Amino acid sequence: MNTPTSVAHSLDRATCTALDAADALAPFRDRFVLPAGVVYLDGNSLGALPGHTAAHVQRVITEEWGTGLIRSWNDAGWFAKPVALGDRIAPLIGAAPGEVVLGDSTSASLFQAAVAAVRMRPGRRVVVSERGSFPTDLYMLEAVQELLGGDEPLERRLIHDEGPSLEDVLGDDVAVVVLTHVDYRTGRMRDLAEVTRQVQASGALMLWDLCHSAGAVPVDLNGAGADLAIGCTYKYLNGGPGAPSFIWVAERHQSAAKPALTGWHGHARPFDFEFGYAPADGITRFRVGTPQLLSMAALEASLEIWEEVDLEAVREKSLRLTELFISLVDARLAPWGVEVVTPRQSALRGSQVALRVEDGFAVMQALIERGVIGDFRAPDLMRFGFAPLYVSHADVWDAVAALEEILSTEVWREPRFARRGAVT
Ligand SMILES: *Cc1c(COP(=O)(O)O)cnc(C)c1O
Repeated sequence: MNTPTSVAHSLDRATCTALDAADALAPFRDRFVLPAGVVYLDGNSLGALPGHTAAHVQRVITEEWGTGLIRSWNDAGWFAKPVALGDRIAPLIGAAPGEVVLGDSTSASLFQAAVAAVRMRPGRRVVVSERGSFPTDLYMLEAVQELLGGDEPLERRLIHDEGPSLEDVLGDDVAVVVLTHVDYRTGRMRDLAEVTRQVQASGALMLWDLCHSAGAVPVDLNGAGADLAIGCTYKYLNGGPGAPSFIWVAERHQSAAKPALTGWHGHARPFDFEFGYAPADGITRFRVGTPQLLSMAALEASLEIWEEVDLEAVREKSLRLTELFISLVDARLAPWGVEVVTPRQSALRGSQVALRVEDGFAVMQALIERGVIGDFRAPDLMRFGFAPLYVSHADVWDAVAALEEILSTEVWREPRFARRGAVT
């Protein structure tokens, strides 16, 4: 499904609205609350709010907390919630029931999973990751090195597009490889099955970061025979700000996997209040302490939508949206030196597109003021996420038209667009 640039020249907004009229996923847009006049292309950072989330969270607060009080740990299924919701995320990532548990933040979950993986490969003293990874992943791996270093240091090897490659760094000393399936900046997608196979052939375990994959692209962890994975629920899954991360551990590894953080909710008998730690069976051992139940309530609401969604249809529309965007950028924004950084080959692309733009920060601020919300990643990337449940083809048209206007009028040069907040 390629939209060549010549087609983009002949495209107009009416063609885009016709594509929307024929779009089987279009009705999902009404399930979300989006402010009028906003084109929201940042669902890869914070997913949009489902229309029924507020009422559901309100009910959990007033009925389960307010009236049920402590009884809700049993009566409302609070205690089982992290694994119950994990079972509902499982089909979105090719996992089985009992393999996924909701955790803390992605950073903490990565630490939990990476420590478990290194301990499952005793004698292997290397952790492999990628230089361009989301920095928190690398920061957490530094902590893993510090924790498990001891007398024999744990080495970290980082691959990079300009070398070394994965093949260069793999060897019989590598315990685990930690890679992001879809790159947070460029949107480049790795071949999950092929990389898993390559890593496992060296005897190492494969730990995937699915932050930009869950809800964005079909993922088949068990089909690929992967080992461990973690991911966010507040991006494409619309769980809301602070929604918990998830951890997946393949069933075959669960009895050997020892979590880094041995809290009481991961204990075999938490309410026996025993003196010593004994891990629970299965994925439950990856729980730590009291779960964030109000955040989980918001996620529980959004998962109702995800249960109705065909992920193949999501992928198909996602590629249509990103291809349309790339074609329009090529056709209309070339005079300003705008460069598409995201792979043009659909198999190598997630659900976002990054543009390299000089002064991209100020250009993005001007774009946001015009109602088109994307984000910026230093030093020069403007990121646009295309969440197929609520982004339309007309949105793509309007976003590129707004960007063209901002670049041609140079309104972005106004000093107010250069001011940076704490979050970009
Ligand atoms: C969004 C994202 C994170 C975020 O980590 P938190 O601990 O949830 O803040 C981590 N890793 C990757 C690859 C991400 O895209």
